[in-house]
Amino acid sequence: LSKKKLGLFLVFALCILISSCSRLKDFIPIEVDKAIGEQFDTQMSMYNYKGVVLSKIEHKEIYAYLDNIKSKILAAPTLKHKKAFVWQLKIIENDSILNAFCVSGGYIYVYTGLIKFLDNEAELAGVLAHEIAHADNRHSTAQLASQMGITLVLSLFIGNDVSFLVNIAKQLLDLSFSRADEQQADFCAVQYLSYTDYDARGVGGFFKKLISSKKDTKIPEFLSTHPASENRLEEIDANWKKMSGRKGKLFINEYQKAKIWLK
Ligand SMILES: [Zn+2]
Repeated sequence: LSKKKLGLFLVFALCILISSCSRLKDFIPIEVDKAIGEQFDTQMSMYNYKGVVLSKIEHKEIYAYLDNIKSKILAAPTLKHKKAFVWQLKIIENDSILNAFCVSGGYIYVYTGLIKFLDNEAELAGVLAHEIAHADNRHSTAQLASQMGITLVLSLFIGNDVSFLVNIAKQLLDLSFSRADEQQADFCAVQYLSYTDYDARGVGGFFKKLISSKKDTKIPEFLSTHPASENRLEEIDANWKKMSGRKGKLFINEYQKAKIWLK
């Protein structure tokens, strides 16, 4: 065996070893999450995907209101990447989409449709906490790693190749989380809210509202990435009981006032 062939063999063996590891994301530095998220955010502003990003200058009040909710959630001591990630929040104008999402590195997006659909601040905090948990637990990065495997790992050695990042960022929108990821996000969300003055059952508020409201045309968007079920609601309530069982605040009046800023 020549040295060159041996070298290639070792690289190949290492790749097999890394890709067969169940925690592939542990091999990927969190700088990769930030680079992917930043690239995604750039594209989001360029292409206005499913709606225009509301200007922070023209919509100061609603941004200040949402940033305050976000800060309360991020104060939870159990967040792993509180300092390392960006945790930037943007509102996308589209009243027909009941959704929010958070991509790698802590880039949070909330659709106006979701804000208008919900009834109180604790419910919105619940959805945001759930999305923040996906990013903090690096669920997208783990999925990208399992889909792209060695390519993603090798890209680390290539450096900040922009065209590569553009491709990855595009894939982020098509990812859907596993049942286990959703469970973990729900669990963490209840945990984050239990450190705030919010009622942590707000995490299940969205589902409660979906179940009680007639399942009309608006719903599929959220369900495509977040399978809802009564089981999930039961789990959220059980976790709330285990963690605190404390009746927190809902901030109904404040929330109704905030909605007016979007009109
Ligand atoms: Zn989710």
